[in-house]
Amino acid sequence: MAEQPDTCLFCMLVREGDHVHRADGFVAVNDINPLAPVHVLVLPERHIDTFRDIAEFDAEEAKRMLEFVADTARKVGLEDYRVVVNVGRGGGQTVFHLHWHILGGNMLLERDL
Ligand code: AMP
Ligand code: ZN
Repeated sequence: MAEQPDTCLFCMLVREGDHVHRADGFVAVNDINPLAPVHVLVLPERHIDTFRDIAEFDAEEAKRMLEFVADTARKVGLEDYRVVVNVGRGGGQTVFHLHWHILGGNMLLERDL
């Protein structure tokens, strides 16, 4: 792994961030530089560098992570939203601890996908 949990920014946010939602193994925080009216990041407590390494999660943990993404969106008041995972530098990833962006609000009308 490129980053180790003791130096990783998102491992630090897992430990001491301002969590908008927390459940067994996962936390959600507001993005510091929001790109939408609501922009939340979901972080697994367990450090893996990228989505590329998703096989390190077993089926039950992966399912709970997806459910946590949906629960977090509900909890922050979103019915319609976009979920994004940037994978690798070429995919726009800047922090190498797996995270899911949840984006909601008017920007959904400005489609670029
Ligand atoms: P990515 O580019 O997909 O790796 O996403 C990293 C995200 O982390 C960006 O949207 C940043 O704005 C966000 N970010 C960086 N530092 C912090 C922080 N201290 N707290 C919350 N979000 C952060
Ligand atoms: Zn980490």
